[in-house]
Amino acid sequence: MEFTCVRCGRCCRNLVPIVVLSDIERWLEVGAARVLENVVKVKAEGFVRRFGVEYCFALRRRGGACVFYEGGLCSIYDIRPSVCRLFPFAPSSSGLAVHPWAERNCLGVRLSAKLPPREAEELEALAERVTRELLLLPQYSALVEEVLERYSSGKPRLSGVRVRVDAV
Ligand code: SF4
Repeated sequence: MEFTCVRCGRCCRNLVPIVVLSDIERWLEVGAARVLENVVKVKAEGFVRRFGVEYCFALRRRGGACVFYEGGLCSIYDIRPSVCRLFPFAPSSSGLAVHPWAERNCLGVRLSAKLPPREAEELEALAERVTRELLLLPQYSALVEEVLERYSSGKPRLSGVRVRVDAV
């Protein structure tokens, strides 16, 4: 049996959804202003800290949960951050592994922590990309802060502003 999410919402209520550069790039491409307005700079913790960065970007939390956790569901599911797409798996020094928090708390993982075979290749590639972007974070942090500043100052017009992961 492979991992199946039982939609208990524990992860949305307890974890900080980390945002990487390709997430920002995606949201800029689809004009997801509501999402970009809720990206904040936070102190790195947990597995992100192990990548040697002190600060990173994440979705804002409100009322004890991710700001996009609404009525028991993710309201941005189709464009959710890469780490949410990977969860309950996460990048680790040995590739893609069960997230340490999920090992103890995810009800789906308690039933089975087996990576869905049909998605394994895609998720492993995504984990590699997230790893690369976390390692490169100090190099693109200022660029992301500039984009977020434009959103928070009410000047979200970003014609001409594009960020490319492959450019960093
Ligand atoms: S904690 Fe696990 S089972 Fe619960 S919603 Fe998150 S991924 Fe699904």
